[in-house]
Amino acid sequence: MKYALFSLLLLSAFLSGCKQNKSPELTLSPPVFPTVSESAQEQAQDGKESTEEPPLPTLVSETAPVTSPSATPVPVNTDTTTFTYLVNREYTLSEDFVPEGLMTPDILFPFSDTSIDKAKMVPAAAEALAELFDAAFEEEKLVLYGVSAYRSYSRQYTIYATNLARYGTKQTNQYSAAPGASEHQTGLSIDISCRSEGFALEDTFADTPEGIWVAQNAHRFGFIIRYPKDKEAITGYSYEPWHLRYVGTVLAAMLYETGLTLDEYYGASCTLTKEYLDTTPFIDTTAERYLSIYRQYH
Ligand SMILES: [Zn+2]
Repeated sequence: MKYALFSLLLLSAFLSGCKQNKSPELTLSPPVFPTVSESAQEQAQDGKESTEEPPLPTLVSETAPVTSPSATPVPVNTDTTTFTYLVNREYTLSEDFVPEGLMTPDILFPFSDTSIDKAKMVPAAAEALAELFDAAFEEEKLVLYGVSAYRSYSRQYTIYATNLARYGTKQTNQYSAAPGASEHQTGLSIDISCRSEGFALEDTFADTPEGIWVAQNAHRFGFIIRYPKDKEAITGYSYEPWHLRYVGTVLAAMLYETGLTLDEYYGASCTLTKEYLDTTPFIDTTAERYLSIYRQYH
């Protein structure tokens, strides 16, 4: 029974990969994923929209067979018009990728100018986040704050390069994504905090009433804790209880129930060794773009 339920969740999770602009609500067959060829990945990573119309889903009986997730990982989704696509150190976004429709969610921020990039998210994620924060207050009188959401490629470059220049490769690669590898560029992610944490992004957020509630309830609104505790070797990042990623309610619920990370769901866990991460910068440290930042600290 439990397995059947899990299979149902997987089928539903397939469907959550539907396009953002419209998702039909009838019983659908699992979409046929195209073979993820290298050229397709490159195209997705270049951030170019496909000019082809997506195939229309077909109606099937409710007893359609579903593949076990452990036997066959779901093919990696790099379609940036969906909510469920993967971004990590190995599946990256192009320099010119900017998500459509960025807007400021109706939530509290610890800064006053909410027209700036880091206050913005794509509309569906912005609306879901406002619902999450509203629920935290209505159910438990907890007040959450948005600290940092959308970040452009060039902003991520500056952050990564600055960290590299100031703290070195090992420390930088623990928390800081290289340009193109940051989920913040998707507009689907946000770092959150609360007043008792001084609005900082610290592990201790996980132990606050706000952090505990978020960890237990974010999935109801379509969010996952993207970099969980004890999954560092899989995600390639240290535990970040403050970093939420919107994937839609169906996949979020499935990942919450199974304890899988998004990387594991796609069978795309980090293949880079700790030694590699400790010693290898992800940008060209001989480029003038980096050196001009490096010189500010040396
Ligand atoms: Zn983050």
